[in-house]
Amino acid sequence: MRTTPSAPGTPAQRRLSSTPLRWSLWTLLLALVASLLVTLVWLAGRYEASQVQSKLERDTGDALGDIRSALTRNVQTLQALQAGTPTPASWSAEAQRLLREHREWIRLEWRDPQLATLAAADTPFRTPVFARLGRTNAQADVALACANARRISGSGYSASYFLPQSDGLGLEVMELCLPLVTAGQLQGYAVATYSLAEILADLVGPQLTRSQEVSLTEADGTRLAMHGAARRGSRIFTSQQLLDLPGNTMVLRMDSWRAAPDLFPNVLTALVTLMSIALVSVLAMLGKDMRLRQRVEHDLAEALAFRKAMEDSLVTGLRARDLEGRITYVNPAFCEMVGFTPEELMGHATPAPYWPPELAGEYQKRQAVRLAGEHAPPREGFESIFMRKDGSRFPVLIIEAPLINAQGMQTGWMSAFLDMSEQRRVEEISRASQERLQATARLATVGEMASLLSHELNQPLAAISSYATGSINLLRADAAADSGIGLAMQRIVEQAERAGKVIKSVHDFVRRRDQEREPVTPQALIDAIMPLVGLQARKLGVGVNTRVQDGLPPVLCDRTMVEQVLLNLARNAMQAMDQAHVRTPSLVIQVRRAPGPGSGGKDWLEFSVADRGPGIAPEVQQQLFTPFFTTKAEGMGLGLSLCRTVVEQHGGFLGFEPNTPQGTIFRFTLPVHAASTPSSALSSPTA
Ligand code: ADP
Repeated sequence: MRTTPSAPGTPAQRRLSSTPLRWSLWTLLLALVASLLVTLVWLAGRYEASQVQSKLERDTGDALGDIRSALTRNVQTLQALQAGTPTPASWSAEAQRLLREHREWIRLEWRDPQLATLAAADTPFRTPVFARLGRTNAQADVALACANARRISGSGYSASYFLPQSDGLGLEVMELCLPLVTAGQLQGYAVATYSLAEILADLVGPQLTRSQEVSLTEADGTRLAMHGAARRGSRIFTSQQLLDLPGNTMVLRMDSWRAAPDLFPNVLTALVTLMSIALVSVLAMLGKDMRLRQRVEHDLAEALAFRKAMEDSLVTGLRARDLEGRITYVNPAFCEMVGFTPEELMGHATPAPYWPPELAGEYQKRQAVRLAGEHAPPREGFESIFMRKDGSRFPVLIIEAPLINAQGMQTGWMSAFLDMSEQRRVEEISRASQERLQATARLATVGEMASLLSHELNQPLAAISSYATGSINLLRADAAADSGIGLAMQRIVEQAERAGKVIKSVHDFVRRRDQEREPVTPQALIDAIMPLVGLQARKLGVGVNTRVQDGLPPVLCDRTMVEQVLLNLARNAMQAMDQAHVRTPSLVIQVRRAPGPGSGGKDWLEFSVADRGPGIAPEVQQQLFTPFFTTKAEGMGLGLSLCRTVVEQHGGFLGFEPNTPQGTIFRFTLPVHAASTPSSALSSPTA
């Protein structure tokens, strides 16, 4: 049995597992996935930045809108302050009230057309800002704003300027001048001083400054005032928009920060990153799974190859059938046994192509029982006859077992087949040799006896012969007395010689010397025994009938021995009829062609001796051919034993059967002389 499995796997498998192609594919896939993920994260970051930027732009616009509308409302408030004809005292009181409401104003003034102050009020929220430097310092700015206002006939603003304070800090301020005109006549000016920082703090919505910084700068970027969260981060988003006021133009700037390091700026990026990590993990797991799978596949291929090698080396045929009786598997030994290819057998339902047609019905029934699961198949197997593709039949031993799958379910039947032809042949040979052995044993016993007899009989026979010859000579001298006695004496001599020959022949035969086989026609054999048979028949009153088929070929035999066999059978038959006192005893000796082809491809002739005696009792039948078995008082019991031995030595068969309506027929066969044809029968040497 082969123990080393052959190289496993299909060519495709081998190509994939052994070339670097698989690795480069994996590397390519990983690179693609990695670059896709990086791009995704980058895009998500970009998107998020643009979101932040556009929100900032919107916030800046909102803040600008807030400031503009508040400034416009403030102009209207100032106009309302001048409504009616206020006295400086009432004006001051009203201005004080307004200053409490508007923290962005730090001072309100009422001036005459020459810009002289008529009344003024300072914000209650801080110490008067002009206390240290004096208001006159700012006169130029106020004059500029008012000139501007006059020119455009509306409110005008001055450029902003820095106002240092006594606490070391200072504040950036800007003047608003509103000309007071009644019936086209300039009555004076309302001047309001704005703190830029307070504009940002009070006029811009608090939601805008909560998380970002808002500032006012000059066009060149110089920061004038600032308000809002001063958080720091790695990334700064900036948005700038112009605050265009009559007489003054500033830039409103908004800054927003992102915390650093900001890996997951928003949910989208986090999601993409998470998904990327998940994807990479899944890829890694897939890779691991694939390696495992490959190992398992490799092991499986090895196991398969091993199994195949094992199955191919089996001499036992294997066949599997499903529960419907269709063939699902056959091994090479089974195909060889029945002579069909696997393709011809696979999927084949009943009747199977290897069932002999005459037995198909019986097999079908047997299979129906098996498939119904009513009877388990015998453990030791059962014998059956199968048919090869060429039509020849052969015996098989079948051992069946249920086929159980991995889930423990029965999926069909697995059967093992042993071709029994060889075993049968061996049994046949051993039976034949057994028979030969028995024949030889018989022969040995008979031979021993025969050689004893021949030794003991030869001398008296020789004496009889010489006495008879002497008597004949004496009778010849007395010619008158020679009236038939001479002939009788001649017969005595002949028969004594014949007895001598028989004994010699038996002697030779049992010594297994090469017998002198010669072609003899059946008629010649009959003719040779007829005088002796006729003699006894006349004595016992038996009618003898011989029937020899026309055109029979000669047989190849030791003629003396075969004549002896015929004589023996005829003598037994006549004695049996005589003992039973049969009324019309008759003896039929017949020769014909043996029916059917004989063994060894030879043609055979069948000799039969039939009587109308009492037949043979069953207890006698069993011992008939045993040497020295006899039922007669003077019998030797050697005749039949010797007859069978002689016939078997010629390769023939001797047997008997009851005759109808009564009596016994003894038959034996002899081989036809091979060189002869039915039409070229040799002429009898004695004829
Ligand atoms: P023997 O003739 O010396 O008895 P055989 O061997 O020739 O020895 O025969 C054995 C026995 O077989 C006979 O004693 C006889 O009983 C029986 N027998 C043989 N031939 C016949 C026959 N044709 N009919 C009846 N019995 C027979």
